[in-house]
Amino acid sequence: MAERLLVVRAGRTFIDGAFRPAAVVVQDGLVVDVVGVRDRVIASTVLVPDDAVLLPGLVDSHVHVNEPGRTEWEGFRSATLAAAAGGVTTLVDMPLNSLPPTTTAEALEIKRAAAAASAYVDVGFWGGAVPENLGALGPLNDAGVFGFKCFLSPSGVDEFPHLSRPQLLDAMQEVAALGSRLIVHAEDPALLGDDGALGRGYDAFLASRPPASEASAIDAVIDAARRTGARAHILHLSDAHSLPAIRAAKADGVALTVETCPHYLTIVAEEIPDGASEFKCCPPIRESGNRDLLWAGIVDGTIDAVVSDHSPSTIDLKRSGGGDFGLAWGGIAGLQVGLSAVWTEARSRGIPLERILPLFTTGPASVAGLRGAGVIEPGAPAHLTVFGLDDPFVIDASKLLHKNPITAYDHRVLSGRIRRTWLHGRPIYDVTDGGPGDAPRFRGKPRGRLLSARVTG
Ligand code: ZN
Repeated sequence: MAERLLVVRAGRTFIDGAFRPAAVVVQDGLVVDVVGVRDRVIASTVLVPDDAVLLPGLVDSHVHVNEPGRTEWEGFRSATLAAAAGGVTTLVDMPLNSLPPTTTAEALEIKRAAAAASAYVDVGFWGGAVPENLGALGPLNDAGVFGFKCFLSPSGVDEFPHLSRPQLLDAMQEVAALGSRLIVHAEDPALLGDDGALGRGYDAFLASRPPASEASAIDAVIDAARRTGARAHILHLSDAHSLPAIRAAKADGVALTVETCPHYLTIVAEEIPDGASEFKCCPPIRESGNRDLLWAGIVDGTIDAVVSDHSPSTIDLKRSGGGDFGLAWGGIAGLQVGLSAVWTEARSRGIPLERILPLFTTGPASVAGLRGAGVIEPGAPAHLTVFGLDDPFVIDASKLLHKNPITAYDHRVLSGRIRRTWLHGRPIYDVTDGGPGDAPRFRGKPRGRLLSARVTG
């Protein structure tokens, strides 16, 4: 039996890259029509007030959920609750830090089983390309991963080794033959400092991972993509000086995309206090001049996506070594705050919301080859989110919904906050629905779907 219609009306609805007044008509979890805001539709109607905008559910193609195996770091339930509260209705999980890593079809099945009962938003999966499975990526591709992730430098966990330069070329050839894509953590190990203690000052850590390490690895990715015709993607670009090479490769027709992350666009090295290892990530957050150049890459369209690289761990690991930047676990937890953080910075630079929204929606959807995500259009899943443009949002790590209450965004004062989110036409999050202890109340059971790159429609 068909479900009752739901209509969400907003004076500013983000459709085809621009805001316009529209009523989004939803039935059976799908957008069935988008009509003028004054058209009469008999249905239960939600009115989005004029101080907010109606957006497609956001897409985050770079999330480390870590379950199973390191579920004390993060898990599908907590990560997808944080996603829903951040307006993210589709995320793609990274293949490492969970155990087993997603490097075989069997490991993907184990991961899917862990996610099945506890995902509040839709979840897809990246596979991993490691020395051990090169030449045998086919079954994992057939099992539905959206592409393959590799590292060119040590990943931080022994069970996910990095590829050498010849292996990078082999992996590119293989994914090209499969019609898949290779997404690359691009740092050159030959240009990175040694592992081990570096002290509590941020400068020594920053110096240990210089821009040249990114530039060298990115050049290798571009070269391999050019030679093989593979679709390649640069993960978490930090070094803005690599943007000209990326821009030139794209102009030459290399099938290349690039993402950066909210922390690189909003935080600068100069403000990171001694011992504040919650700011440690690889590649590192760089200086303010570099941040300005990354913003130029956003504005000129070189950067395709802004994704969280949400990569949490336990507080003990994040603080191991007493705040020594060489010893602490690298990874920033920010799945819930991405749009708020980037919008706060964008508006201070006079950049309109319309300019950054594609980087949170169609951009990451295209990076992962996700169909029907990040758009409001007839036939697409009814994933919607309401963003209060001026709502104050003071970040308190203990109130964010990811598992371990530590984040580089703690105490930041942001403007703009997600108010409510629908997944497949059902409300899943409402910021005003406070439960006990100020925690948001989520409606209903987890109804996120597990996405497969092999299923169409
Ligand atoms: Zn990552």
